[in-house]
Amino acid sequence: MLQDLFDEDREDGDFSYFPSNTSSKSIIEKPISPRNETDLCGLQNQGATCYLNALIQTLLFTPDFREPLFSLTAKDLNLLSNPNDSSQTSSSGSTLKVRKIIVELQKLFAEMLLLNQQACSSIRLTDSFGWQSNETIDHQDVHELNRLLFDAIQKSLQGTKQSNLIRSCYEGSTINYTQCKQCQKIFKRIEDYQDLPLVVQDSPNLHTSLANMFTYREQLTGDNQYRCSSCDNRLCDADKVNKKRNNIYD
Ligand SMILES: [Zn+2]
Repeated sequence: MLQDLFDEDREDGDFSYFPSNTSSKSIIEKPISPRNETDLCGLQNQGATCYLNALIQTLLFTPDFREPLFSLTAKDLNLLSNPNDSSQTSSSGSTLKVRKIIVELQKLFAEMLLLNQQACSSIRLTDSFGWQSNETIDHQDVHELNRLLFDAIQKSLQGTKQSNLIRSCYEGSTINYTQCKQCQKIFKRIEDYQDLPLVVQDSPNLHTSLANMFTYREQLTGDNQYRCSSCDNRLCDADKVNKKRNNIYD
């Protein structure tokens, strides 16, 4: 089930920051090629993880996401498992769980930025998701995966100084204005988004697609009429436009 795709707690074994064996899944060790002329580091495909790899690359090259993630210390991530250190135990006395997804994202990002390798392995990261081999050979919808990965990162960051990271980097708001053509009243509705469905076909570039999205006036007529509360909940023709919300006073 897609909604169960990320489970940081699925594997109960002790977390090791420096595992002796990268993973039981890496059977054949191939010589690692250095970076090519692009000087960029790719990610190995575990079977059908190309969609995940593309997503990881976009996160890596988003400084507003990457740098706050790197700012989290070993203590923030509950990696200092000293039983005498009260800061690493919860108020109930139990040891705090390692924030595995964030730890593995930090390590993978560091490898991709610093190692002279053509590609890195994402196996430890997908292990931190609780993925088994079947999840790495099943192709998922990248849009759905993105949403679930953000949820998992958000959950893993709870209680840290970066608990608002996903929201601050990736969330915005739009305001829908719908004007009834009968009574002329304008209705306003605010919607939060983490992604925008853009029409790119026949558009020369992304800026034009975005501009079109926020200037397009949708006609609500026929089977798509608007139920207007000011007109006794009757169905009326209406115009609808979408605006980006710039601040909380919009
Ligand atoms: Zn009306």
